[in-house]
Amino acid sequence: MKPFFYLVFFLFPVLLSSQEKYTRVLKLMGSRFDITVVADSETKGNKYIDLAVAEISRIEKMISSWDTLSETAKIVENAGIQPVTVDKELCDLIGRAIKISELTSGAFDISYASMDRIWKFDGSMKERPTKEEVAASVSKVGYKNIILDPKNQTVFLKNKGMRIGFGALGKGYAADKAKQLLISKGVKAGIINASGDLTTWGIQPDKTPWMVGITNPLNKNKVFSWFPLDNSSVVTSGNYEKYVEFNGIKYTHIIDPRTGWPVSGLTSVSIFAPKAELADALATSVFVMGKETGLDFINQLPGVECVIVDDQGKIYNSENIKLNSTK
Ligand code: ADP
Ligand code: MG
Repeated sequence: MKPFFYLVFFLFPVLLSSQEKYTRVLKLMGSRFDITVVADSETKGNKYIDLAVAEISRIEKMISSWDTLSETAKIVENAGIQPVTVDKELCDLIGRAIKISELTSGAFDISYASMDRIWKFDGSMKERPTKEEVAASVSKVGYKNIILDPKNQTVFLKNKGMRIGFGALGKGYAADKAKQLLISKGVKAGIINASGDLTTWGIQPDKTPWMVGITNPLNKNKVFSWFPLDNSSVVTSGNYEKYVEFNGIKYTHIIDPRTGWPVSGLTSVSIFAPKAELADALATSVFVMGKETGLDFINQLPGVECVIVDDQGKIYNSENIKLNSTK
């Protein structure tokens, strides 16, 4: 009798705390977010998802370019006028963005944003900007003119008309922060997926790792490789959704900050890295660098891998990643 007795007592708590996945899909930061948590009841799952939503909304308020009350808007308003005191969090984020600009020789640049005035991808553009317009606008771009004073927590855009924008790393940052918060609340596993920019932690309730499939945008229904994601992130940047077309030429939303012109040659770049923020920034960077320079660059970064699809549908990958077509 006795062993059976123990067994019942042992099993009871295990049965009671059966873990399940809970997912909510919603629009945040102008994009679709799929938030998944593993919890032992729907009530808890919902509570955790609410926390993640609040965290992402908080970040959106800080980095939004169109919310005139955001700290980012204040920095832009004061371009060429005066330094603006900001929260340490934003100061640090801008500091990391500048580091990536240095690392990528300016391929990545949050001050690309003054180009937003002439390249618009919301359907409002009726003709291609002229070379003169592009040249005038790109003269305001340059991360070296973002003057950061970490000690006093101030940011100063040196020239009038300069702007900064977090389109290329904001979603990744928000995903990282939401994950970090949920881990601190004791959530054992989950995925924060910001329209394909995603980060995971823990394992699924059935004890298998989270899996991510990479598709070729030119043949979206077919996953060409599956990867397990163990407490890491993958971000895909594509130019197949946001673009404008003039005279049969596609102009995409990723812009070379050094020329002011949209980049071409690639269809998608997926980056694997521990943090979604870094993966997000590097995906945009590799897009600008092109496949050769981009692969070379990624091969030199420890713990970072990439898969590139060029505009002919050809697939390239970094040295330490293996493509497999079976799950
Ligand atoms: P997605 O929107 O597909 O997630 P990205 O992460 O690559 O794509 O971000 C692209 C966005 O980043 C653009 O819409 C724009 O807001 C901004 N951006 C464009 N070019 C650059 C660049 N060279 N450096 C930094 N940000 C950029
Ligand atoms: Mg990006």
